Amino acid sequence: MDNLKLLYDWQEAQNLLREVLPEIIQRQIDVGNKKILNPIPKEREDEIKSIKFGEEPREPREVIEQMDRLLYKYRTIQNHPKFFSFIPLALSPVSVVGDIINSIHSPYGGAHVLSEGVAIAQKWLINWMGEQIGYPVKELGGIFVSGGSMANLTASVIARNEKLKDEEIPKGTVYISDQTHSSVAKGIHIMGTPLLNIRKIKTDDIFRMDVEDLKRQIEADIKDGFIPFLIVGTAGTTNTGSIDLLEEISKIAKKYNCWFHVDGAYGASGLLSSHKELFKGIEKSDSISWDGHKWLFQSYGCATIICKDRQAMARTFNANPEYLKDVESQDSNINFWDIGIELTCPARGMRLWYTLQRVGTKAFREAIDRGFENAKKFEELFKKDEDFEIISPAMLSTINVRYVNEKYTLEELNEINHKLSEIASKRNEEVYYTTTLRGKTSLRFCAIHPQLTDADIEDVYKKLKRDIESLSL
Ligand SMILES: *Cc1c(COP(=O)(O)O)cnc(C)c1O
Repeated sequence: MDNLKLLYDWQEAQNLLREVLPEIIQRQIDVGNKKILNPIPKEREDEIKSIKFGEEPREPREVIEQMDRLLYKYRTIQNHPKFFSFIPLALSPVSVVGDIINSIHSPYGGAHVLSEGVAIAQKWLINWMGEQIGYPVKELGGIFVSGGSMANLTASVIARNEKLKDEEIPKGTVYISDQTHSSVAKGIHIMGTPLLNIRKIKTDDIFRMDVEDLKRQIEADIKDGFIPFLIVGTAGTTNTGSIDLLEEISKIAKKYNCWFHVDGAYGASGLLSSHKELFKGIEKSDSISWDGHKWLFQSYGCATIICKDRQAMARTFNANPEYLKDVESQDSNINFWDIGIELTCPARGMRLWYTLQRVGTKAFREAIDRGFENAKKFEELFKKDEDFEIISPAMLSTINVRYVNEKYTLEELNEINHKLSEIASKRNEEVYYTTTLRGKTSLRFCAIHPQLTDADIEDVYKKLKRDIESLSL
């Protein structure tokens, strides 16, 4: 029986957290001085596998120390300001506080009536985000989900439900671009629409969907007996930060009766910056994915799918089983489980709610503006240097460049640029991976971290110059 008591010892939780939280937080404070890549040595891997799940309890401090020394140590520090790959994690301590508090309360996130306070707070937060998009707040719906992938999947299912009858599903076609995030096609596949029905539209010189080509493809499909039902535009592609011509795509979507979803997982946060004008037409979309754990500085597992028409979400996802009758949705307090895929889920939005309350929208504007400035600063340095070609200009917080030299062929340059990324990773003070754009291997910098300084950027540039010298090209 004593062992059972351990499971519900809130006093121990209180004491332990008081003891260990300062140490754990200190590691985050020191993050900027750490090596970014920390691959696990073989013997450590074996050590983790050798930890048994035994019958008897262990000392909590010992276990926590082991987690620290063995598990959390071996990871890529994605919230290091000089980690430029993927969309980095610009984790804010404020978000962590909101997350921890919510996690301790653990309110039920799926229903309205089971946790009314946080349900209302999250709904009002989504309304506020919808307002930033330019959606009419009265009708909009939305939920917090684990990430952009889930948001895109959710939107695709709504689109299919709203635009196609069941028997039409095999004929339904979806339009994305060659820069659309892979999660979109993955979601389409998961929901059972044939991958063959996805049309990948080419992009223009700055990686925006070619709207003429989009129109042509839709018309050709209609002629062939297909039923176009979904166009996915992107506000901030992951590769280059490009923003599709949303206004024009919205007109095409309207003309051909397609659902218009905007993937803003990364870029929609620009709506809170001083560069809102870049997103013209976003308000004409039917739905949007917008991640908190990217450019809103939240811990992982915080994203939204926002839909202009709450009823469209409800028509798609309302299941109404008998045992949930007592907690059925009213329109005014609609349950999240009736407008999304999940039933039980945490109140994922509370950390963002807290962050916005704590620091205010001006801090967000400044922090997001800083990302734009970071990319511009990189651009300024690379632009006046003949060693480099700009492959995609500074867009949002992202820029792609490439070392060039007439002496070498395309393939050789691809290899050299790949090598330059590897050399930086080996030094492990800054990390930028490559991406491939129109066959060219490019060095990609996604610089969302607001604590990255101009001096840091100059330092990264200087080291890259030295790396080039070291190759004696
Ligand atoms: C990151 C990203 C996604 C996927 O989001 P997750 O939160 O990683 O699931 C989708 N679309 C775009 C444009 C992204 O940058």
